[in-house]
Amino acid sequence: MICLVLNKLTLEENVSLIKQHRPFVDIVELRIDYLNSADALQAASFPDMTDLPVILTCRRAEDGGQYRESEKSRLALLEKALEGDFAYVDIEEDVKRSVCVTKAQQKGMQVIRSFHDFRQVPDDLVHRMVQIARKGSIPKAAVMPSSIQDVKRLFEASRELNSIEKKILLGMGPYGLPTRILYKKLHSLLTFTSSDETAPGHISAREMKETYRADTVDDRTHIYGIIGNPVAHTKSPLIHNPGFGGIKYNAIYVPFQVDSVRTFFALSEMLPVYGFSVTVPHKQAVLPYLGKVSREVKQIGSCNTVVRKKNLWAGTNTDYYGFITPLITPLQRDLIRNVLVVGAGGAARSCVWALRNHGCRVTIVNRDVQKAEKLAQLTMSSFDSLERAGLYADVDAVIQTTTVGMGELEGIDPIPDFPFSKHHHVYELIYSPRYTAMLARAVEAGSSIYYGLDMLIAQGKLQFESFTGYHYPRRLPVTLVDEEDT
Ligand code: NAP
Repeated sequence: MICLVLNKLTLEENVSLIKQHRPFVDIVELRIDYLNSADALQAASFPDMTDLPVILTCRRAEDGGQYRESEKSRLALLEKALEGDFAYVDIEEDVKRSVCVTKAQQKGMQVIRSFHDFRQVPDDLVHRMVQIARKGSIPKAAVMPSSIQDVKRLFEASRELNSIEKKILLGMGPYGLPTRILYKKLHSLLTFTSSDETAPGHISAREMKETYRADTVDDRTHIYGIIGNPVAHTKSPLIHNPGFGGIKYNAIYVPFQVDSVRTFFALSEMLPVYGFSVTVPHKQAVLPYLGKVSREVKQIGSCNTVVRKKNLWAGTNTDYYGFITPLITPLQRDLIRNVLVVGAGGAARSCVWALRNHGCRVTIVNRDVQKAEKLAQLTMSSFDSLERAGLYADVDAVIQTTTVGMGELEGIDPIPDFPFSKHHHVYELIYSPRYTAMLARAVEAGSSIYYGLDMLIAQGKLQFESFTGYHYPRRLPVTLVDEEDT
């Protein structure tokens, strides 16, 4: 079940929240710790205000909730609310012999006994859940993984808890995201979503239902994903999940924040994972684990696509092809011969090699000139410092591969002195925002422009082919543009 957490001040506001999210949720959790005191006293009437089953919860501040009064008054508030027709009540594991538990059981409600750990995945997680289940309640653990190893431990714990039919297990924070999306692989009764769509790494009910189709995951669902650190900003799930749906493939694509590539490969064997995209900073780190690599991966020394083959992992680099595809026509028409590449990081490596393999002369400019020199030596190119980019106005194309223009550097032009003209082909690799300060200047000057977003989609569709063996469904539109970017 996909559960929406109701965190408004009044019961009426919570009813509106349900209306907004109704198509995407199966159950709601009424958090009476968020309610104003008058509405908290009326909480018993809430189940009659919705057609969905409701979990009753009053979370203490120490467990991440809002309730700051005494424990006695909290339990009294819960007891009063239990007059209502709730489907479940959540009472913390450490609450001893509560009248709330007895009252809930007498009324035929299901009792969830929960514990929260905001610091770690506790060593006694399995033991505590087993103890709760033995007493006839549904155990719930919300814990904080701080590494991919902790995520692996959660999946291992879920296997040990296999015999407990009803349980709720979830990892919080950015590392925990795959456990919340793959809640059915953890055999968790439900996953929690919030109404706040803007918090990074937070999955809204709509995304959980529409993008991930998390509630349709079953034992046969094949898992794919993307590894990076951080990875919450990734748009790749918006390419692959609809694509899987389009070819009726029972598969899901999930972001994994990964601090240790080695551990992720171990997790991939265990789950199993069938293939994954690789983003910063792991494009080189995956190489030692691959049994087979493509020609470009060998040449570039970086891999963005890993696929499970019979007895080994195979790596390709779809950035290389995704990047060059939109330039093929001008390259064939001989419109692009001399190119200025701005940046000398991982993405620049793929671009420079693709351009060199297509017969272009390349000059690399970078803030760290030594890095530019190293890449230039490797690729038989020229190099210079970033500040001198403006002196290369006679090139045919400019490829912007730095991170300047995104995140904290949004609105900044990495080569403010470069005199764009209508003769230039200008390619921006940044895809969020789609339209950067540098591109705005190039458009004003009448240059031909190429978007990072188109490259992202092109490389994603190639990855999809590697994952599935099928072309990306032709009629499926890929809509990755934020409204504010249009
Ligand atoms: P990376 O390896 O970390 O390289 C970052 C580059 O940005 C380096 O050249 C770095 O210069 C430069 N840089 C960072 N901060 C700077 C600053 N304040 N001033 C000047 N230069 C600065 O990252 P990457 O993997 O190459 O990714 C770079 C960009 O390409 C990202 O925006 C990424 O989203 C985009 N990308 C897009 C696609 C796509 O499909 N559209 C695919 C891959 C990458 P130093 O060497 O001097 O630090």
